[in-house]
Amino acid sequence: MIPRTAVLRHTPPWQRALAQAIQDPRELLQLLRLEDRLAPATDPAALQFPLRVPRGFAARMRVGDPDDPLLRQVLPLDAEGRPVPGFGADPLAERDAMPVPGLLHKYRGRVLLTLTGACAVHCRYCFRRHFPYGEANPANAQWATALDYIRRRPDIGEVLLSGGDPLALSDRRLAPLVRELEAIPHLRRLRIHTRLPVVLPERVDADLLAWLGDCRLTRVLVIHANHARELDGEVGEALAELRKTGTLLLNQAVLLRGVNDSTAALAGLSEALIESGVQPYYLHLLDRVAGTAHFEVPEAEARRLLAGLQARLPGYLVPRLAREEPGARSKTWL
Ligand SMILES: *Cc1c(COP(=O)(O)O)cnc(C)c1O
Ligand code: SF4
Repeated sequence: MIPRTAVLRHTPPWQRALAQAIQDPRELLQLLRLEDRLAPATDPAALQFPLRVPRGFAARMRVGDPDDPLLRQVLPLDAEGRPVPGFGADPLAERDAMPVPGLLHKYRGRVLLTLTGACAVHCRYCFRRHFPYGEANPANAQWATALDYIRRRPDIGEVLLSGGDPLALSDRRLAPLVRELEAIPHLRRLRIHTRLPVVLPERVDADLLAWLGDCRLTRVLVIHANHARELDGEVGEALAELRKTGTLLLNQAVLLRGVNDSTAALAGLSEALIESGVQPYYLHLLDRVAGTAHFEVPEAEARRLLAGLQARLPGYLVPRLAREEPGARSKTWL
């Protein structure tokens, strides 16, 4: 029998932190000394996409501020339940681009693996909140089919690990998958899209750094931060460790009403990112997913904000304003 202490030692601290994430809106509001009435009237347990926020991320929210940009990203609102024309369950028609379960092949030369539906944080604006992860998350055995698809196509040079959040998976599962990808001779780049280094910096531990550092592929890690205050000292340290593995760090953000819909907020984000060694990449217009209409910033306003950024920052700190259109051959740059 394995002694209990050994079992505990085998559960990485980040998994314990993940298990302790806040899931009750009332608890979050209490922590922030905010009134209960801000909680959604709907029972959180009944929500298809309940509140979930790691304690470390909640600690970066301003106490007593109901409009805090970090809080706004995670607190369910009753507005989510109101249907709005033009906002649907699968606005990107992703189901059509899945040749094998768990693999999206929309753009030339790169495929995206949806490794898991799990995330450390539930972002209310998420475009995958209605994604059929049941169909899209093959059990381990089925990875063989996705890997075969990549093996048979020499024009695929890059694999994106996505989800959900791919780093919500344990290193015990990720490291062998990455080794299999590395063994495919025509693959050159591995890209990881994750919010975990920001919302749960504990995730960047020795095991993760080891497989990432050993990987022969050119590694790009795209973090998702929408506001400068998401990046604090601990996040900065995690990002510095990631950079030491030779991984290029990029950021993609979503333009969100009440979170980062001002030139000042966007400039603050770009500056905080570069100070942590992260290059701004995309600023996405919201995908029109049911339940997210209250976050939308119209395109004309987005263009004005970007022009404001350009007038104030060096070019390398101005992200590309982009939107995703079903059937297009790439993201659409605006
Ligand atoms: C966004 C996306 C990519 C990556 O697009 P880039 O412009 O290379 O960042 C690749 N595959 C899918 C399915 C995507 O949605
Ligand atoms: S981390 Fe990404 S995939 Fe997960 S809920 Fe947030 S936006 Fe959606």
